[in-house]
Amino acid sequence: MEFPAEPFRIKVVERIKRTTREERERKIAEAGYNVFAIPAEDIFIDLLTDSGTSAMSDNQWAGIMHGDESYAGGRNFFHLQDVVRKIFGYEHFIPTHQGRVAENLLFSTLLSPGKVVPNNIHFDTTRANVQANGGLALDCAAKVAYCPDEEHPFKGNMDVELLEKAILEHGVANIPVVMLTITNNSGGGQPVSMENVRQVSALLHKYGIPLFFDACRFAENCWFIKQREPGYQDKSVLEIAQELFSYGDGCTMSAKKDALVNIGGFLCTNDGELALRIKTKLILIEGFPTYGGLAGRDLEAIARGLEEVVDEDYLAYRVGQVKGLADELEANGIPFIKPAGGHAVYLNAKKFLPHIPPEQFPGQSLAVELYREGGVRACEIGSLMFGATEAPEMELVRLAIPRRVYTSAHMQFVADVLCRIAERKESLRGYRIVWQPPVLRHFMAKLEPVA
Ligand SMILES: *Cc1c(COP(=O)(O)O)cnc(C)c1O
Repeated sequence: MEFPAEPFRIKVVERIKRTTREERERKIAEAGYNVFAIPAEDIFIDLLTDSGTSAMSDNQWAGIMHGDESYAGGRNFFHLQDVVRKIFGYEHFIPTHQGRVAENLLFSTLLSPGKVVPNNIHFDTTRANVQANGGLALDCAAKVAYCPDEEHPFKGNMDVELLEKAILEHGVANIPVVMLTITNNSGGGQPVSMENVRQVSALLHKYGIPLFFDACRFAENCWFIKQREPGYQDKSVLEIAQELFSYGDGCTMSAKKDALVNIGGFLCTNDGELALRIKTKLILIEGFPTYGGLAGRDLEAIARGLEEVVDEDYLAYRVGQVKGLADELEANGIPFIKPAGGHAVYLNAKKFLPHIPPEQFPGQSLAVELYREGGVRACEIGSLMFGATEAPEMELVRLAIPRRVYTSAHMQFVADVLCRIAERKESLRGYRIVWQPPVLRHFMAKLEPVA
């Protein structure tokens, strides 16, 4: 199987600990069969999330030493503002310490009870911030997003007809903003096409509704456009990003994804009045508008990370590594959502473990077994995460790949672990909950194997 050669060499290493099966059996039992409760030091390969787990470059670490910690008007703010303007093109740039703060600022300013915010599929924090401000978070993804076995180049697309129906049904006055998540994280890290962005933009501008991107994985999305959409093969990823953002009116961003840093975020808008209202609120909860809850050095690392993330050697490696893992699973008959996403492979636990019913958490059973067999940590996205309110359609286990952190040998190791599990998958058992908190139960629930 093919893994792209890493376009970097390694200057600093961090030891990761191998454990014995006996140790892992004990740790997972102590953790109540919940991988969130295992200390990270006892994990060999941690694929829980790609958020904030990136390795920074020598250039970014050097930037950390150039941090200007002045309270107001530090030089790193102006550098980051220049880089953000170059890529995103929006007039106003507001730093925050995470993406969800940008969402909170935007929705608490624009929403009031009864307002509606459509998206292709809302990410958890986006949905929660819309709801916390009395809004209705509406998903309008194309139907293909919900077909795990269907290969489609742009499974993250918005269903434009459904969106127009929603606008007519709820009324223009009740929709202060429409979001478009690139790539669509909750739908499997799937990209949105430029054509779809253009259509969504044209529709919204016909009704005078602003379009905001949830831009966390914009570079991966633009790389897919270059690979898959006619007419973009000869454009650079930077040019593609510039065109894409030109169809919108602003964005929210978690720098913990495609800005290649461990903490940070921002909000952009072309609306001066909105920017002013948000900055006033920012001072209350995050800090002065030239640092927004971050240190000057963090702003510098984000600026340098954004310049590095549009490098096409990096993106070919990044997306290629995820695809390499998916190809390896495909060759061994291990089911996952097709095609592989930009940042993760989503295992289809319902198909892999048909003998475990949803009420016994097949995804959790697979996540537990990944740790038992190889010290690999992954995240269940199925009945344990969502089933408290209603049974979800899919039982998934997400293998999210941190950026620039693991080598292809590590990916091969993960694939081998899954192949060993596949050989004896009938022996995997379901789980039952012995204790759960009232909300977001998957983080803290305690489980036990079903006899
Ligand atoms: C991570 C993420 C967010 C929230 O960002 P944080 O920095 O974790 O607060 C919002 N939207 C999407 C699509 C994300 O992946």
